Amino acid sequence: MISIIAPVYNEEEVLHSLYDRISEVMEGTGEEWELMLVNDGSRDRSAEVIQELHERDGRVRGLSFSRNFGFQEAVTAGMHHVKGDAVVLTDADLQDPPEVIPEMIAKWKEGYDVVYGVRNSREGETWWKLITAKLFYRLIHRITSVDIPLDTGDFRLMDRRVVDAIGNMSERNRFLRGMVPWVGFKQIGVEYARQPRFAGESKYSSTRKMLGFAMDAITSFSYFPLRLATFFGFVMASISGLAIMLVIFLRLFWAEQAFTGQATTLVTVLFLGGVQLISLGIIGEYLGRIYDEVKGRPLYLVDRSWGLEERGEA
Ligand code: UDP
Ligand code: MG
Repeated sequence: MISIIAPVYNEEEVLHSLYDRISEVMEGTGEEWELMLVNDGSRDRSAEVIQELHERDGRVRGLSFSRNFGFQEAVTAGMHHVKGDAVVLTDADLQDPPEVIPEMIAKWKEGYDVVYGVRNSREGETWWKLITAKLFYRLIHRITSVDIPLDTGDFRLMDRRVVDAIGNMSERNRFLRGMVPWVGFKQIGVEYARQPRFAGESKYSSTRKMLGFAMDAITSFSYFPLRLATFFGFVMASISGLAIMLVIFLRLFWAEQAFTGQATTLVTVLFLGGVQLISLGIIGEYLGRIYDEVKGRPLYLVDRSWGLEERGEA
């Protein structure tokens, strides 16, 4: 069986079309399938629409969080509750065309455990989003130790072994685009053109949100920022060593008035103060995430579910 997971946050306008497109494509493959819709605390009618779809077709299952927990949590909840031998993650807004799924299934049958979608073009997105996304993927690729493929979103097919491995990873700060490559096994990409949003609006359009996402990604997969502080420390120490010798030399052999100004002192102190505060901030970013891990709160809370009762897991 193939399970398809779509996280849903205020997507009432797209859910019917999502179901239509997916059921059409999946009927074409002749596979047994289910569609798992995870309602991430939507404030619109998304939950009701999920219920309608479930009543129309029992293969649509769903669960609803008690509030908005976030994209990564919604997808994780989906992974905890699907039963398929292969699991496909897709956005609910039809930006990832379901027509690519049969291609992914074909690769899976060839023996690949992860088939990820590579975006060869992105339509209907702002140039700012395109540039920041490009930079983000390049930066992540350079500074992390896991081999995160370039221009790859969350649209992917995973074998049951990969889904179980990720479902068992208990970390709170979940960056799935890094966790899947981290798991390993045989992975391959298929190219596709990312579509414009079908309806509604993007929840990740603000620069603040994207920065937060980038920060989560970097801190959960790299010590690079911490090393940067060490590096800066060494550079500053070497420069100041040279500067001290220079100042002594000038004072003794050149002019007694050299380096007596307050401005010089002020500038160096402020500069160093800045570097130290940034380093503290970086440590703080990691510390805050350690704090989240230590508290060990549940990743999400389920309010209602549709179609899971018959499996005795509601
Ligand atoms: N989403 C979610 N929880 C959130 C934000 C988004 O489940 O807090 C879902 C949303 O419904 C969509 C997917 O995540 O199915 C991707 O979100 P969106 O399309 O807004 O992001 P973009 O494609 O613009 O990056
Ligand atoms: Mg989208």
